Amino acid sequence: MKIKDIFAKKTVFSFEVFPPKNNSAIDVIYHTLDDLGDLKPDFISVTFSAGGSGNSGLALDIAAKIREKGITPVLHLPCINYTKEQIDETLELAKAQGIENILALRGDINPDITPVEDFKHASDLITYLKRKGNFDIAGACYPEGHPDSDTLEEDIENLKIKVDAGADHLITQLFFDNEYFYKFREMTAAKGINVPIEAGIMPVVNKKQIERMVTTCGASLPRKFVKIMQKYENNPEALRDAGIAYAINQIVDLAANDVDGIHLYTMNNAYVARKISEAVTGIIEV
Ligand code: FAD
Repeated sequence: MKIKDIFAKKTVFSFEVFPPKNNSAIDVIYHTLDDLGDLKPDFISVTFSAGGSGNSGLALDIAAKIREKGITPVLHLPCINYTKEQIDETLELAKAQGIENILALRGDINPDITPVEDFKHASDLITYLKRKGNFDIAGACYPEGHPDSDTLEEDIENLKIKVDAGADHLITQLFFDNEYFYKFREMTAAKGINVPIEAGIMPVVNKKQIERMVTTCGASLPRKFVKIMQKYENNPEALRDAGIAYAINQIVDLAANDVDGIHLYTMNNAYVARKISEAVTGIIEV
């Protein structure tokens, strides 16, 4: 099933998983996929290492497993550190597994790796994918602007290039303040970007995640989010429940404002995905 056809029918609700860093954890992710599959998301996407670290070989296996469970997989495909030949190889493997949905990405620039630059931007990969087969193509977008762009306006100019190259729909970077998303949606519409935009929601449910948010994530942390994290950071269960509640609140507000879709960054946590799904399924379907 092509994801663009799902958007034509309903508000999309999807999950994202990542391959474990080592093969010993493979059983754990397969078990997680069983649980996530039971929640019947519209698709599950699988991250792919941009090169240098991570376990990209497993991404295809995981995507195939998702498909076996009757759920549509989306394979992330970063291009900056890969040659055309390597991308071709991955596409052939993907086709052989029946994968027809790709999230085309540049990948983060790693200071320890000299980029291959067969593809400089995600839009170059999208142009290439259009020639390579009949894939449904998603792209990434950034409600608060990509850190490489000087301004949000400049980033949206570049996003238009990505969409014009053939991105069928977009998935946002995580954000904790819906107002950024609404402003972004207005600005993209004004630029003539008319493809569906799924909102990326990350439930923050443990202390490690909070620390990562504060140091590496470019997303603004609204006062109410910071207060919750400060209050519960030393009480794991309360923090988990508060993080779930925060994500549910964001989703309810987005649904009320006619969002095209919700993409849940599950962090491979099926318990959290279940709690959120149970709370919002009826709200999203209405
Ligand atoms: P691009 O679209 O190429 O944009 C990067 C920068 O270049 C931006 O500043 C943009 O404005 C500018 N730009 C874009 N096109 C042009 C152009 N034609 N001319 C001039 N400037 C241009 N990374 C991974 O490694 N693996 C993953 O699985 C992964 N999954 C992700 C999933 C989502 C939903 C998101 C939001 C991000 C994901 N990332 C992943 C991270 C992503 O690779 C990084 O954010 C990366 O820095 C940018 O990727 P991009 O595809 O948005 O790049």
